[in-house]
Amino acid sequence: MAAMEYKQRTVTCGALRQEDEGKYVVLNGWVHRNRNHGGIHFINLRDRYGITQIVVGEHARDEVRQIAEELRLEYCIAVEGIVRKRPDSMINPNMDTGSIEVDVQSLQILSRCEPLPFMIDEESDAKEDLRLRYRYLDLRSTGMQNRIRLRHEFVKAIREHLSARDFYEIETPTLIKSTPEGARDFLVPSRLYAGKFYALPQSPQLLKQILMVGGFDKYFQIARCYRDEDARGDRQLEFTQLDLEMSFVTREDVLKTIEDLFVEVFAKVMNYSLPTSFRRLSWSDAMNTYGVDKPDVRYDLPLVDIGDIAELIQFGAFQTALAEKGSIKAICAPATDNLAYSRKYIGELEEAAKVYGAKGLAFVKVGKGGVLESGIAKFLVGHETAIIERMKASEGDMILFIAAPWKKCCNSLGAVRTKLARDLNIIDKNRFEFCWIIDFPLFEFNEEAGHWEAAHHMFSMPQAQYIPTLESDPGSVKGDLYDLVLNGYEVASGSIRIHDVELQKRIFRICNFTDEEAESRFGFLLNAFRYGPPPHGGIAPGIDRMVMIMAQQTSIKEVIAFPKNTAAVSPMDDSPSYVDDKQLDELHLLIKQPVKSE
Ligand code: ASP
Repeated sequence: MAAMEYKQRTVTCGALRQEDEGKYVVLNGWVHRNRNHGGIHFINLRDRYGITQIVVGEHARDEVRQIAEELRLEYCIAVEGIVRKRPDSMINPNMDTGSIEVDVQSLQILSRCEPLPFMIDEESDAKEDLRLRYRYLDLRSTGMQNRIRLRHEFVKAIREHLSARDFYEIETPTLIKSTPEGARDFLVPSRLYAGKFYALPQSPQLLKQILMVGGFDKYFQIARCYRDEDARGDRQLEFTQLDLEMSFVTREDVLKTIEDLFVEVFAKVMNYSLPTSFRRLSWSDAMNTYGVDKPDVRYDLPLVDIGDIAELIQFGAFQTALAEKGSIKAICAPATDNLAYSRKYIGELEEAAKVYGAKGLAFVKVGKGGVLESGIAKFLVGHETAIIERMKASEGDMILFIAAPWKKCCNSLGAVRTKLARDLNIIDKNRFEFCWIIDFPLFEFNEEAGHWEAAHHMFSMPQAQYIPTLESDPGSVKGDLYDLVLNGYEVASGSIRIHDVELQKRIFRICNFTDEEAESRFGFLLNAFRYGPPPHGGIAPGIDRMVMIMAQQTSIKEVIAFPKNTAAVSPMDDSPSYVDDKQLDELHLLIKQPVKSE
């Protein structure tokens, strides 16, 4: 069958302006709205570029009028007509094309659309699964169109910036050796070698390090990463990161490279001017002051240690914490008109704290003339001035206390800080505030497994002063690690890497890998390190997460064209799905549990 003949567009639906009056044009697009006012059809025709009003007037040919009658929402059509200026009373200043309309000469239906599962609008208010099942319709919404455009521009600006600075974009394979990097690997069975598997990369970490050994001293890649983790929060099984690595660099060089990159990219893409260098916080300062290692520094509300004052206070929870070498911290919730610190509200704050292990949230209110009222006020008699001064509190403020082991204390009060800021409405949504977190601990103790693990991954360099005591005191070792945080989200992690075989082996051992295991899993990296590896380091900003923040969204699904739902399923194509026995046979696989027929 010959392809359908149709009038191809001469302009898009976002292009026409008053100056185009009188032009003869063809538009292709989707019927966004179709109103019939006393026999005159006003059709809003939409494409990626905008919306143009087209009018089938009283004088239109019968055939055209018939087609106009037939049109339903989201029919894909071709329109031919003449641009005319709208009467003054009909001008729509909210539409780019609002001063014109197209007087239709001919109409052609290119394809029809079934009744819609949801309306296509600025944003869809349909349930997430419905949006994902009909993602092609959801993608037509202005919101999705804008976000996918933003993502494209972001990635393009990154490529331009790095390419202009001698970086090579190099692809690394997505079928690789299974090498644990913290999460569970996705495995791909080999047909040619029964019983053997490839893994999908959790990140190109080892390959980018080997590229450094290969002499490509400035590398980047817009890399897809796969982690087979439980569906939890806003996670996707696959995500995209800007993977970057450089040789002959120090931490300063990596941080500067990223600062320069985002300063330029934000200016270009968001018309937003960032400071030329970003604030830095050590991991312990971030924890102590903000309660988390990814603080939102758009607002202050610092946590304040009052351990020394608490020593003198006969309040059970304080004394227990002190006896257990824990911490006592407080936060000052400022007096405000838009938030009443009722018992009920303090209860809500306490719930937020308990999620992170605090047993309770104590409070006092600052009354007139430095008097502390309600809550634990009676225990604080005699210490009012010390507390008020330490907390920089004033009349009407509420002081909230948590006593717990250090990390729990930080995290719990950090959660109170975050909730308070939201409820106080003091977060400036239009600001982008980056900060670096540096000097992270290199190891974390995994209670379940009963051994030390790398806090980031096993290839990060310990800071030099800790190298002699790695084995004897792993808990105190700080690494040459850095995270980039944006508006309270961790958006990148990176480190200066180990490039010495012996040091790398020591780290494997501390993380409970025998030399044999390490050789069988990571032998290829160790081999490469036997051939003149350069000192190197890198980082990997998450593209989905960053675009999500830039687009002021709270889920990465809003900036990914085809995400999985929270249950790790794609409702559009129903993956994951069963496969034929023949496919399994070829892959030498037997499914343990009989497959239930659907
Ligand atoms: N490979 C690391 C990650 O995916 C990032 C890095 O260290 O460059 O988190």
